[in-house]
Order: sequence, then structure tokens, then C-alpha cells
Amino acid sequence: MPRFRSFLETMAPYKPGKSVVSSDGRSYKLSSNENPHEPLPSVVEAIARAATEINRYPDPGSAKLTAALAERYDVPAEHVALGAGSVAVAQQILEAVGEPGAEVVYAWRSFEAYPLLVGLAGATSVQVPLKDETHDLDAMAEAITPRTRLVFVCNPNNPTGTVNRTAELRRFLDRVPDDVLVVLDEAYREYVRDEDVPDGLDFYRERGNVAVLRTFSKAYGLAGLRVGYLIGQAAVAEAVRKTLLPFAVNHIAQAAAIASLAAEDELNVRVEEAVKERDRVRDALVAQGWKVPPTEANFVWLRVGDRTMEFAEHCAAAGVAVRPFAGEGARISIGDAEANDTFLTAAAAFLT
Ligand SMILES: *Cc1c(COP(=O)(O)O)cnc(C)c1O
Repeated sequence: MPRFRSFLETMAPYKPGKSVVSSDGRSYKLSSNENPHEPLPSVVEAIARAATEINRYPDPGSAKLTAALAERYDVPAEHVALGAGSVAVAQQILEAVGEPGAEVVYAWRSFEAYPLLVGLAGATSVQVPLKDETHDLDAMAEAITPRTRLVFVCNPNNPTGTVNRTAELRRFLDRVPDDVLVVLDEAYREYVRDEDVPDGLDFYRERGNVAVLRTFSKAYGLAGLRVGYLIGQAAVAEAVRKTLLPFAVNHIAQAAAIASLAAEDELNVRVEEAVKERDRVRDALVAQGWKVPPTEANFVWLRVGDRTMEFAEHCAAAGVAVRPFAGEGARISIGDAEANDTFLTAAAAFLT
């Protein structure tokens, strides 16, 4: 029998969002926070062009995409590091800081990938319970020990959609020792409309130990191609480049990301639409009698508790796939208006 790392025995594998089909053939996937739109024609064109070149290895340093991101955010190119999705970038960071005895602090419940990636990096998770569905930053600061290497702050938080605002984050960062890296996971940054929610890049500019994680998977609609990035000070970005699997960010993904940055105005129209739909869905749920935390992301969170799996099955019967966390609640992505309406009808029926 081959011998494996003991972590694998206790590790619950990552559960991706499912698709479901109702008995009358309806299928709405609101389980993975995806962008419901197909890629823009200009992006498809860039992908088609890049497809004719894939007999060659991709540019391992993604120089053009790195330069485009550096220009977009007005940061030095050395401060940008890429990965095959921001999940992969998070793994690269953890590979860079993780070893037996190292601790990684993050809120819980938060992004499902954190515990897996921390464990795979040989480090130890320190989970700090949410307070009112939001990161409890005071408790997180208190959870930091001399063994802490990294803190994730997911803002807005997946799966609750809640945010931490500028003043409290600054107070928190003031309490974090300089040798602890704080990674602000801003996968949903483009959907934030609350002006008191900081752009994490402002903190990165002020502090050597703060880095920002972003992705092309959500607002930019490239989930299937896998591109994410970190912006951090030179030493942090360099560590993330060192732990990148060679050629992990493929040629087509690089081309599509560059084309998406060039089409940002067009993509923003879609994001604005999603924000309007999000607010409409939340208002409708509240009117139905649900308690829904305010959300700044492209999803809503319902703390259904013990009936969570029953709720997910009820939605599935209507053709709507949601993301249930057994015993806790369900996260429902914002889709197009038809998908959202179908979900709202199912949610209302569940309460009666
Ligand atoms: C979706 C998501 C990501 C990004 O995933 P990709 O690997 O870039 O597709 C990162 N962090 C959080 C919190 C997310 O919800």
C-alpha cells in the first residue's frame, strides 16, 4: 500500500457547485458564483487567435498580462504575480509560507478552499467564527500568535456576502505584526458598491505585509480559463512567482485576460446589471420574510440552518442549483433575471 500524507485522510475534498435539472427540463446554475454571460465577442476573438498558437508553450512569466495589470492598477510590474485562478495563487502563497507549525488565520465560515490549501501546505488552520455573518476582526487579531504566518480576509466574504469596512480594517491591520502577511481576498471586489469598503490596494500601498488577491473568474467571466493574480510588495509577489507551477497560466487564458482588461467598460455594464439584480433579489427575499445579510457580492446567503439540505432539494426540484452548507445555510448566486425569478418563486414556496 502506498503511504500518503496523514492530512489526506482527514481532508474533505473540495465540493464544486452542482448543476441540476428539474423534471420539466429547467436548469439554472446558481451554485458557483459564475458570471451568467457568455464571453464578449472581442474576448472570443482573442481566444480564437490564441488557439492557433498553442503548439508553443505559454510565456511562463505572462509578461504582457502582467504589464497590462500593472498599468491598470498603476503598480510596478514586479508587484504583480499570476496563477491559474486565484485559488492557485492562494495555494502558491501558502506554499511560500507554510510548513509544519506555521499557522494561518481566517474567518469561518469563509471560502471553502482555505482549509484544504492550508492543510496541503503542511500548515495549521486557525478558524475564527463569524460574528453577525461578518469577519470578527478583533477576534482574528487576538488569534494571531508568534506561529502565525498568514491571515486571509475575504472581503466581501464568500459565502455570506458581508463586508468589513475601512476604519475597522485599518484598526485590524494596525494590530497585525509586520512579519505576518495579510491577504485580502477580493474575488468579488467589482460588485462592491458600499463606499466605506476599502479598495485593498490602498492598504497594499501603505503596508509591506498586505497583498490583494483578485480573479478573472467572476466579474470578468473567465472562470473556465483559470486566471487570478496577486498584487503585493516585491518580496511577496516574488514568493508567489517562485511557487508558480511552470507554465500554469496557459496561453489562451493570458490572451483572454488581456482582451478582458481592454473591454472593461463593456464588462462593467454587466457587473452593474448583476448589482441591480442582487439588490432586487435581496429585497424580494426580505419581503418574503427571509433574513438576508446585506451583500456586496454576486450572491446572497440564507442561514437556513437544519433545513438547508431540504431547501437545496426544494430549489433543485424547480431546476435551481444553489450551494448548500449542511446545517448552516445556502449561498445563491445572482444569475440572469429568469434564473433569479425562478429561484425567488422557489424560495417563497419553501416558506409556505
Ligand atoms: C471564486 C473565488 C475565488 C476565485 O477563484 P478562481 O480560482 O480565481 O476561479 C477566490 N476567492 C474567493 C473567496 C472566491 O469566492
